[in-house]
Amino acid sequence: MTVIASNLQAVNRAVAQAARTAQRRAEEVALLAVSKTFPATAVREAFQAGQRAFGESYVQEALGKIGELRDLALEWHFIGPIQSNKTRSIAENFAWVHGVDRLKIAERLSAQRPQNLPPLNVCLQVNVSGEDSKSGVAPAEVTELAQAVARLPHLRLRGLMAIPAPADDLSEQRKPFARLRELMRQLNAQGLELDTLSMGMSHDMEAAVLEGATIVRVGTAIFGERNYGEK
Ligand SMILES: *Cc1c(COP(=O)(O)O)cnc(C)c1O
Repeated sequence: MTVIASNLQAVNRAVAQAARTAQRRAEEVALLAVSKTFPATAVREAFQAGQRAFGESYVQEALGKIGELRDLALEWHFIGPIQSNKTRSIAENFAWVHGVDRLKIAERLSAQRPQNLPPLNVCLQVNVSGEDSKSGVAPAEVTELAQAVARLPHLRLRGLMAIPAPADDLSEQRKPFARLRELMRQLNAQGLELDTLSMGMSHDMEAAVLEGATIVRVGTAIFGERNYGEK
């Protein structure tokens, strides 16, 4: 078994164990393998080990891999910051976008989504842990943004995403995730039909699953440490 295959197995086991602890079914939690900075060969290896959904943060880098891996039935998720001059490439090449935090960006993605593709699945990024993160809509503003995004024709608003400030302690890690879950509950009580909580990374995926994550975005624990210098 390759290192990537055995890492994937360990991550899937950890997620299933956390789901059991939370009295959830393991199938309620999807694993998004974050392949940014890793080559197409690493993605292919993960695919051969059964992984289908991959997350990328840099548009140019992602387009190269998407092109190289056209022969595989992969589901691509864009999880990075979204610049307005990149929305067309994102709308044309991805199935999901996790980091939408402005209406302007959502409007462009909807307008630029090719008509022959299904609606682009969207999560709104929420700034649930305050100061230190510069991206994400403020919790007080998420309702207004969600209502507006839900009306756009070529997007399908699926849920919320967060990247909380790192914390070491499990109970500290759980707090922002619980907050995100509560925000989604409130939006659904207002008539939206959201089914996705995109939360949890290598260091806090268990905490996220305990608080209801339906997608965990895991890079390092699958592919190893990233080396941005050699990208
Ligand atoms: C890089 C990245 C991840 C994966 O982080 P790891 O700590 O390597 O698991 C998850 N989500 C987002 C938005 C990222 O940019």
